Amino acid sequence: MSNTEGVKIHPAVDNGIKAGNPNFNGGVLTCHCASNPVKVRVGAQTAHNHVCGCTKCWKPSGAIFSQVAVVSRDSVEVVENGDKLDIVNRDAPIQRHACRDCGVHMYGRIENKDHPFYGLDFVHTELSSDDGWSAPEFAAFVSSIIESGVDPSRMDGIRSRLRELGLEPYDALSPPLMDAIATHVAKQSGALAA
Ligand SMILES: [Zn+2]
Ligand SMILES: [Zn+2]
Repeated sequence: MSNTEGVKIHPAVDNGIKAGNPNFNGGVLTCHCASNPVKVRVGAQTAHNHVCGCTKCWKPSGAIFSQVAVVSRDSVEVVENGDKLDIVNRDAPIQRHACRDCGVHMYGRIENKDHPFYGLDFVHTELSSDDGWSAPEFAAFVSSIIESGVDPSRMDGIRSRLRELGLEPYDALSPPLMDAIATHVAKQSGALAA
């Protein structure tokens, strides 16, 4: 194991992972604006919560990973100051709806009905003060943190710290999610029965 002392991943996991509550059924996400914050109600427990090293997910300042989970899009509703939301990139598979004043991404939505994850929105549960959200389970796109400027020499220590936290590091998504994508593709091509 490499030395993991002082390795910071994300504020929600750096002091250990808080267990989720199986009876939890949602809460309100609030952006970082001091006045007129955007509020989004998520009316269900999230799934597949993880830390993500890609360069597209929103990260709190100083963090090298984001923390992101999925939830059914039917359970996501903008309840306050939705006029402040802009889509970061309309051409991206995941359209990230961000507050134009503070930059926080409030939810990411897939509009392509053929996408393997169509029907799921991506949300950052740390934007909620409610306790009980599903706990992060793994680390996705770990190698991609180099693309945001992390020195490659730090990768051993970072992967060791992720394992120490119980967040198995993957350079894509977790095996169940990669399998779900491949199954979707195989059903579309006919390689598997739909
Ligand atoms: Zn804001
Ligand atoms: Zn990401």
